[in-house]
Amino acid sequence: MYVVNLVFDIPLRHHYSYLSNQPLEIGQRVSVKLRNKEQIGFVIAIVEANQFNDYPLDKLQHISNIHSDIIPKDIVNLCNFAATYYHHSYGSTIFCATPALLRKISSRTDITLPDNKYYQLTKTGQTYKPRGKKQINLWQQLGLSNLNWQQIKEILGTKPDKLINDWLSIGIISKISPPIVTNIATDIVANEEQSKIINIIGNHLGEFHPALLYGITGSGKTEVFLQLIHKVLLNQKQILVLIPEINLTPQLAARFQARFPSARIKVLNSEVSEKERYISWLQAKDGKTDIILGTRLSIFTPFARLGLIIVDEEHDASFKQNDGLRYNARDLAIYRAKTLNIPVIMASATPSLESLYNYKLGKFHLYKLTKRAASNAILPEINIINLAHYPVNQAGISSPALEALANCLARQELALVFINRRGYAPILSCYDCGWISQCKNCSSRMVYHNSSNNLKCHHCGYQANVPNSCPKCHNQYLHTIGHGTQKLEEFLEKEFPTAKIRRIDRDTTNRKDDWQQLYQDIHARKIDILVGTQMLAKGHDFPDLTLVIGINIDNALFSYDFRASEDMFNILTQVTGRAGRAEKSGQVILQTNYPDHPVYQFLQKHDFEGFINHTLKERRQNQLPPFIHQALIKLSSTNEKQLLRGMQQLAVKNKNLKAKDIIVFPPVPAVMYKLHNRYRGQMLISSKSREQLHSYLNQLEPLLSEINYLAVAIDVDPLEV
Ligand code: ADP
Ligand code: ZN
Ligand code: ZN
Repeated sequence: MYVVNLVFDIPLRHHYSYLSNQPLEIGQRVSVKLRNKEQIGFVIAIVEANQFNDYPLDKLQHISNIHSDIIPKDIVNLCNFAATYYHHSYGSTIFCATPALLRKISSRTDITLPDNKYYQLTKTGQTYKPRGKKQINLWQQLGLSNLNWQQIKEILGTKPDKLINDWLSIGIISKISPPIVTNIATDIVANEEQSKIINIIGNHLGEFHPALLYGITGSGKTEVFLQLIHKVLLNQKQILVLIPEINLTPQLAARFQARFPSARIKVLNSEVSEKERYISWLQAKDGKTDIILGTRLSIFTPFARLGLIIVDEEHDASFKQNDGLRYNARDLAIYRAKTLNIPVIMASATPSLESLYNYKLGKFHLYKLTKRAASNAILPEINIINLAHYPVNQAGISSPALEALANCLARQELALVFINRRGYAPILSCYDCGWISQCKNCSSRMVYHNSSNNLKCHHCGYQANVPNSCPKCHNQYLHTIGHGTQKLEEFLEKEFPTAKIRRIDRDTTNRKDDWQQLYQDIHARKIDILVGTQMLAKGHDFPDLTLVIGINIDNALFSYDFRASEDMFNILTQVTGRAGRAEKSGQVILQTNYPDHPVYQFLQKHDFEGFINHTLKERRQNQLPPFIHQALIKLSSTNEKQLLRGMQQLAVKNKNLKAKDIIVFPPVPAVMYKLHNRYRGQMLISSKSREQLHSYLNQLEPLLSEINYLAVAIDVDPLEV
């Protein structure tokens, strides 16, 4: 008889003990009765019953069911680390890391995996005349290369089992084993800088080697990964590529697949169904997938033989999860690489201050790519427009910017106008009485959208009709204040009636097909001007783009959030990096009221390092990360009085804790005080020492459970304070 300790999907820190007739494995999935309900649990420890003294054995229940699924040890270990580091419950952490299908008692996990075979046209097959558009297409593709089940499914758009069986039975195709990745389809020869990096990292493949790959947009970072990935594939190892949430996966996946036609590549993002996620999980665990390209959650994917982790755009905030387990996938990637003794490459055109500081501390290796990789591609010229001299029109755009747009249209090249606000205008207001369009659920304004002719809250999603007159004083004339993508689009359509204008923001682009369509349209020259939000800034490569205009970019300079100017610098660097990527040189126009602000000065000189040193100095002076470590206690309630009571209680209680090298700021209302009908407060804790911060949080945890009438969360290394 054995006693197993189990964790469940509950926010408690402790585990539960159950009896089992047979020894189970750490990470094994079982079902048991807990609080009179059948629940899924995972084994985190096991002892022989006669060694167990914590509790009388006859009080323990037997587990009801043993399932065959097992979370591998290294993932259990990763979860344990994450739970401790982020002060989150172990059980909830394991459940967060596990595919949804395995979390539920009712799910069916007896899924037959698609076979691991490839299909090849036979001699008979080569002269076969298929009927139907899709079948013809498939037959043609098979003529070009052997395909696996997944690829055939993608071509047909439906499950291919019947067709595969039919074609096998009449001898058109035959089954073959998956090819071993050997040759790559490229004529790109790494340049000197790239080769050096590929060689050094390539020589550290079997060891922990945290590498920060810093290279301007278009300098060939992706090419560096591809060549390193090739080496890792040749060693029969697997690769995890973490990418930001924003939609660059289809493009990147296509580039990877084109380079490694026979590699089994899986994309894991929010569009993947629960079942597919589970299948990918199994296949990676069994070593039947070569490369996973995925967003932050993929850091928990088990691999049989992981050989390399890449974090692309490592500075991106979407690697940080902002609810539940508030983890940062980049940081967990470093931990994981360390425990597995493999390299981790963090790449960016604008590395985070945290990573650069880690380099300065000697924890990371730094590799630089200083030139654009494609020949002749040069950095764009950056023009700062002083709005004091060139006022903006009603759509927020200045005359020099309009002139540049007209010239770009005349050259028949692509322009991008970037404004970081979707909708028509951020505020609807009555000038007579001062009414503004406030959200009823949040401390924020409702944005006016003219395409749907309504008001929308961008924080909680609440929508309302546009009032016919002012709700307060019944004045008939309401005004929009400020600019958004729709207003800009409307203006540009009037200004340039023959130009083809396309707006890209979350309202127009939410499916991955939309992006594919956008690329096709750009290639087909169906677009002259792109108007959009920062969605357009990240990672996308538009060949004919030669003009970028940035509008309303000053906001970030005076934000309460100390990271705002860093974020803005990064976005602008990314967006300006878009201009003139191929053979054409580019121009960037930034409109500002503060042309002398250091951020613009550094941008204009393409001086990222200058900006970093300037910002690090500021952070050091102000005792901000990365020089100190922070944790944020977040409190919220639908009842404002309760929240205020809890904040007060916390302020009193934490005075009694032992605090060495700890600064505890008093609890304060959050910047966005009301969100989705919840009132929110927070308490910031900071320390020079990580250990001290953690030991303080450990003491604080029991106090937090005393204010359980509030929703309480701990955010370690918060990105938004
Ligand atoms: P990044 O990831 O840094 O933005 P990429 O790897 O995407 O850069 O490279 C930018 C462009 O330059 C791509 O079209 C890529 O194919 C090309 N490129 C990269 N390295 C080389 C090279 N050594 N020789 C020729 N072209 C290259
Ligand atoms: Zn009014
Ligand atoms: Zn709202």
